[in-house]
Amino acid sequence: MVYVTRRVNFSAAHRLFNPTFSEEKNEAIFDKCNNFFGHGHNYIVDVTVKGVPDPETGYVIDLKKLKALLEEHILSKVDHKHLNFDVEFFEGIIPTAENIAVTFWKEIEHKIPQGTLHKITVFESDNNYVEYYGEPIEIPKHDVRYSIDKEPFLNS
Ligand SMILES: [Zn+2]
Repeated sequence: MVYVTRRVNFSAAHRLFNPTFSEEKNEAIFDKCNNFFGHGHNYIVDVTVKGVPDPETGYVIDLKKLKALLEEHILSKVDHKHLNFDVEFFEGIIPTAENIAVTFWKEIEHKIPQGTLHKITVFESDNNYVEYYGEPIEIPKHDVRYSIDKEPFLNS
């Protein structure tokens, strides 16, 4: 087996909270990512496909095709969006890096034209990243939309 990886980037806003927690608990657990008005990250996503190189091309998968697939099914939907509100496949999902990796997997697993999806890595920052290898996981749904009913400039 050979493992081939394509790296892509996107920028998006989110707010992490669980509507069943108190404000204090959300703040304690999600910290900066709980910022009331949301905030952004520059995400890096590595998508790894495994397979045997094609005898005629030497490719496990044509990386141009993988890039185009990621652009169509993921990046065009999440780049410069708010993950709590704008993206259909994140509806009801607390948009942690973990849940982003699992959700992206479900979106592209069956669309990979050659080889098989092996791993999705999501970097939320230089130091924090998650890896997902496709073991079945059900993500519980919560209402992660929120209304802006708080006075601005009072957070500090
Ligand atoms: Zn965050």
